[in-house]
Amino acid sequence: MAILQGKGVSGGIAIGRLEFFVRSHFAAERRAVEDTEGELARFERARKTAEEQLDQLSAMTVGRLGKENAELFDVHKMMLKDEDFLEAITGIIKDEKLCAEYAVVETGKQFANDFAEMDDDYMKERAADVLDVAGRVLSILSGAQGGAAQSGEPVILAADDFSPSETAQFDRTLVLGLATQRGSGNSHTAIFARTMGIPAVIGLGAALAPGMAPAMAALDGDTGQLYIDPAPTLLTELKAKQAKLQVEIQALERFRGKPTKTKSGKTIKLFANIGTVADADAAVLGDAEGIGLFRSEFLYLERGDYPGEQVQYEAYRRTLEKMKGKQVIIRTLDIGADKQAAYFKLPPEENPALGFRAIRICLARPEIFKTQLRAIYRASLYGSAAIMFPMINSVEDIRRAKTIVEEVRRDLAAEQIAFDQGVPIGIMIETPAAAIISDLLAREVDFFSIGTNDLTQYTLAVDRQNEAIGEFCDTRHEAILRLIRTTVENAHKAGIQAGICGSLAADPALTQTFVDIGVDELSVVPSAILRLRQSIAEMD
Ligand code: PEP
Ligand code: MG
Repeated sequence: MAILQGKGVSGGIAIGRLEFFVRSHFAAERRAVEDTEGELARFERARKTAEEQLDQLSAMTVGRLGKENAELFDVHKMMLKDEDFLEAITGIIKDEKLCAEYAVVETGKQFANDFAEMDDDYMKERAADVLDVAGRVLSILSGAQGGAAQSGEPVILAADDFSPSETAQFDRTLVLGLATQRGSGNSHTAIFARTMGIPAVIGLGAALAPGMAPAMAALDGDTGQLYIDPAPTLLTELKAKQAKLQVEIQALERFRGKPTKTKSGKTIKLFANIGTVADADAAVLGDAEGIGLFRSEFLYLERGDYPGEQVQYEAYRRTLEKMKGKQVIIRTLDIGADKQAAYFKLPPEENPALGFRAIRICLARPEIFKTQLRAIYRASLYGSAAIMFPMINSVEDIRRAKTIVEEVRRDLAAEQIAFDQGVPIGIMIETPAAAIISDLLAREVDFFSIGTNDLTQYTLAVDRQNEAIGEFCDTRHEAILRLIRTTVENAHKAGIQAGICGSLAADPALTQTFVDIGVDELSVVPSAILRLRQSIAEMD
């Protein structure tokens, strides 16, 4: 048995096989082959396996996200049958007597370049799809696992760290727990795990090595320990702890469906943070009173191309329907910095967290912003939608964003498309600048939501992704609490509400402080709601 110590970022016990998530790097050795017939057959088998995987992914996606979202996989399947594409690959194997991996990589790159150079925007964007398909065949040929979605059995998934686009593609029923070498408490791996109620340990360092998988393992998301080949006595102990946690979760059930109130009768709203339509089920299960943060960028991260208006409309409509009239605050696109989608072709930056991200991209590329706003407004008829802009720093930012909103509303009205005229518009308070001038910003919008993950990063000058400086990331720093207090006071003076949707909202040590400050709403991971309602019920 080996014990690795990391940092627990999502509580609970996971017991199962440890599997390493291997990314297929899109490169292959130029290896000569003698038996070209055998190599062609090997390529054909990999091509067929890729087709089967795409069928499975498509069926799974239709079930979870609807038909529109599965269309991408049909495009990929068509590419796997494209005669020119196949001839180019088999030609390299047969004529140049080179291995299938090399043929797939070279052909993939060539076709992607050809697509990228086309005039038509739609064809241009197929470049990412060719690379995706070729990458899939390559990983099958080289025997690399593509992660939990493809291994078919529930596992504890390990990696150096997981990117948002990787977590977005997980089949959550197959992920028992997450273990990473790197990462910080505010990283997206941590947020994803807490949203899904999946136990997770991060920062295990190089001791967590791909060579140790597959092995039986147990992970304790509370103590931050990962046990490889746990001894039978320890396994019994961990199973007992798992059962005890289950009993505690059961006891919270008496708070289900109840309003969130202190003993003295002060109420506070408990909302949930979600990243995908499927997460709305977790929010309902967690008994959320609304959605305080729908991280809409996941719609962009989980695909190789911009989601169109219809795809987004379906996603927002389905979320609003699932929430049955409860408020759903949709945060507009927050891409950039740690959330990258290659097809945006964002320029490389020295300091991406201080760079071209979130509302800055939307203001610079209004066609992307308008598509999203149209989708939100069209879906607004199906529930209680609200729009929230991320990374606002000035009155000017808000006015520019609202001008685009006005254009969208005018266009929809001109096209006689119905929408809810009263969709509230709010902003996130994520920078010290925004908190300090929150009195001025409050006059421009209907509500505030404080994003403490970024507010902490920018106030303390501590990169939220850099675990090496984790000890300097004091999330309860007095400076953060003062900025929160200022923001809430300024909101109330202007007659609007202020919530908190960063991870700090779920910090039990601060719940009393937030109630005292008068925070109107806490938006947290769905699994934290009943526990918070219990502790608020015990407060004066
Ligand atoms: C935040 O910054 O606190 C927040 C909620 O947004 P995100 O974590 O998605 O950056
Ligand atoms: Mg943020």
